[in-house]
Amino acid sequence: ATPAATMVGTSIGAQHGVLFEGGDVLERVKEVDTVVFDKTGTLTEGEMHLTDARPVTPAADGAVAGEEGDERDSEEGGVAPEAAEYDDATERLLAAAATAEGGSEHPIAEAVVAGARERGVEPGDLQVLQNVSGKGIRARTEHGTVVVGKPELLREEDVDPDPALDAMRELETEGKTAMLVAADGELLGVLAVADEVRESAVDAVAALRDRGIVVHMITGDNERTARAVAEQVGIDPDNVRAGVLPEDKADAVESIQADGSRAMMVGDGVNDAPALASAFVGVAIGSGTDVAIEAADVTLMRSDPFDVVKAINVSEGTLAKIK
Ligand code: ADP
Ligand code: MG
Repeated sequence: ATPAATMVGTSIGAQHGVLFEGGDVLERVKEVDTVVFDKTGTLTEGEMHLTDARPVTPAADGAVAGEEGDERDSEEGGVAPEAAEYDDATERLLAAAATAEGGSEHPIAEAVVAGARERGVEPGDLQVLQNVSGKGIRARTEHGTVVVGKPELLREEDVDPDPALDAMRELETEGKTAMLVAADGELLGVLAVADEVRESAVDAVAALRDRGIVVHMITGDNERTARAVAEQVGIDPDNVRAGVLPEDKADAVESIQADGSRAMMVGDGVNDAPALASAFVGVAIGSGTDVAIEAADVTLMRSDPFDVVKAINVSEGTLAKIK
């Protein structure tokens, strides 16, 4: 393109809140044949809230929590559905988790702390917090050594997650992110947080697919939650890569590009910077961190996934100037 065309494109982009990091980026965007979305904070709002707190009921004869008529197998114990009234087991579960998460800045942590407070449970004293990347947290607290996160994290602490796995699966199938909570080696129960899919994510995916662009999703979240969200936004389940650790996101992009695809990676988080850098085009969305924006070729000023489509339109010269 001529320098004049580049200037026009760049300025039309800016009018629409799409910032190109130079003329060669503007040229590259129209060659994109694949778009890879990060899930949390990109396809979803990234504002999680606590939806469920289910304590593990004691095994055998002492099924305590839960409502009448529910079909729990009391032989093996299990996880009770959330009851309207909070009992001690729920309080203990919330208190341990909120205390540990009180020291973390992860969106999950903020949701757990806020959700506990809404239910009348205040976080307690936290001595030491350890983030276990992509898996959860481990903390020394007034409630003992607390772990919150994926089943494998509990196994690493010699806690058997099995009695809570059915409940966890059920919550994940609803698109929620479920995590297990244990204190001093004892499984306390399951918490779930949910995040709304951004309204325009559905239209963005549809518009991209209409143009023959292949759409993928990468997330550190688990398979079931990832697939439920993919289904909501119209991404083919075969194009979902779940459970991807932060340090492996760039490799995941490279594996998508291994067949010669030219991928645009769209993400928001600190975790996403290497993946943005390894994509043919890296796109940071508005609410993103400075690190992501620095690694990106294109920055979307708003947190609107449909602006990905606009970026392509600008690059192809099919988006008009706003008068
Ligand atoms: P994403 O790729 O969606 O941004 P992360 O890599 O930040 O996700 O986290 C991946 C998974 O690790 C989460 O879905 C959750 O299961 C677990 N996890 C991460 N941080 C925490 C936390 N503070 N508390 C509980 N679980 C966590
Ligand atoms: Mg993230």
